[in-house]
Amino acid sequence: MSTLLVKNAESLVTMDDRQREIPRGGLFIRDGFIEQVGPTVDLPQDADEVLDLSHHLLLPGLVNTHHHFYQTLTRALPAVQNSNLFNWLKTLYPIWARLTPEDIFISTQTALAELALSGCTTASDHLYLFPNGSRLDDEIAAAKEIGLRLHASRGSMSLGEKDGGLPPDSVVDTEANILADSRRLIEAYHDPQAGSYIQIVLAPCSPFSVTTELMRQSAQLARQYGVHLHTHLAETEDEQQFCLQKFGHRPVEYMQVVDWLGPDVWFAHAVYVNKEEVGTFARHGCGVAHCPTSNMRLASGIAPVREYLAAGVKVGLGVDGSASNDGSHLLAEVRQAMLVARVREGLTGFSLSNDPSRQLMTAREALRLATRGGAAVLGRTDIGSLEPGKCADFFALNLDRLEYAGAGQDPLAAAIFCQPVRVDYTVVGGKFVVRAGRLVSADEARLVERHKKAAQRLVDAV
Ligand SMILES: [Zn+2]
Repeated sequence: MSTLLVKNAESLVTMDDRQREIPRGGLFIRDGFIEQVGPTVDLPQDADEVLDLSHHLLLPGLVNTHHHFYQTLTRALPAVQNSNLFNWLKTLYPIWARLTPEDIFISTQTALAELALSGCTTASDHLYLFPNGSRLDDEIAAAKEIGLRLHASRGSMSLGEKDGGLPPDSVVDTEANILADSRRLIEAYHDPQAGSYIQIVLAPCSPFSVTTELMRQSAQLARQYGVHLHTHLAETEDEQQFCLQKFGHRPVEYMQVVDWLGPDVWFAHAVYVNKEEVGTFARHGCGVAHCPTSNMRLASGIAPVREYLAAGVKVGLGVDGSASNDGSHLLAEVRQAMLVARVREGLTGFSLSNDPSRQLMTAREALRLATRGGAAVLGRTDIGSLEPGKCADFFALNLDRLEYAGAGQDPLAAAIFCQPVRVDYTVVGGKFVVRAGRLVSADEARLVERHKKAAQRLVDAV
């Protein structure tokens, strides 16, 4: 039995159903779960460890719903700095084909360290290339050391160039191998319990890199074990054209054909959807991982987030892979989501309304996407808010810093509107991953050194 008392936060943002924000708030934590939430004066005064958060804002840990950790090795590559999705992918596939198990391990730690330092406590990752003996196990082992909760997607590609797909044949695998490895991983690692640190997700990569048969069989296997399904969908105009030509359906219609609509499915991007398809997601309970920076970086478009929310679609945020962001700063992504929603509100005429009750997307709405929204998308009820019984996953920001000077009227809004910063504390299941602004679970300088070498080797080898 161990207890942690967190006290005196200038404001504690619960993200509970009542949207409570508690001045001078705190948490009493026992064995990794929250036992009490409230004003500090109402909490027990003794604990095994006490964290005084005077002058700090205390928030629920952020949930990242889409990433490709390995892409931290190929950030800002000159050859693809200015390319759209399909050209970007075609240039990068041969480089990624040189990844080794050690590269997967190092890049996972780098991405998770960045995420932790930006307030993330649960991350989903989508690994869909397994060259040179790489396995999802390499990622899982690396994540265990850092200490974040991981939803590890067993990605896959089975439709190579010779069969009309986008990736070269050298990086695709057979359906039989993919399904056997998926089954092995679920049986070895998947933990569906409250407080789970590792869940397995089945994630064929995209309509243009996966056969119809693998989509169908992955859905069957996932449902046999009760694990979630994830893929890229409706990301670009090019993909929409590909689906119409190859399958005779728009991307969302194609998901219906392969039995990929349900509350156990979430899609990355979902930019190119019409009104009817927004309704389809809502009716079937599908989730969306909104990745605004990546969508801007690759000129993909702007997802209709306000329409999704109005229809009751679950929406979470994702930083997406670090070759199209090119960072893993989830708090920065909250800001991007708020800002790009406003761009869309300008383009669609929403901002022209004279009705004062019609607000542009607020900081609180954007933060909700990254907390409650992300938890719902991943199918978790034990994370996403600070409430009794939930996981003790939170982060804190020191408000006495240059970036927030002058924003004291609304600390929560400051965290979203002002320049994104490194967080001061990140705690997962009651354990410190970031303390006083420093990563606890890895040596940051050593990690950067190893990562630089691995990245250089990948590029030199081409
Ligand atoms: Zn992606």
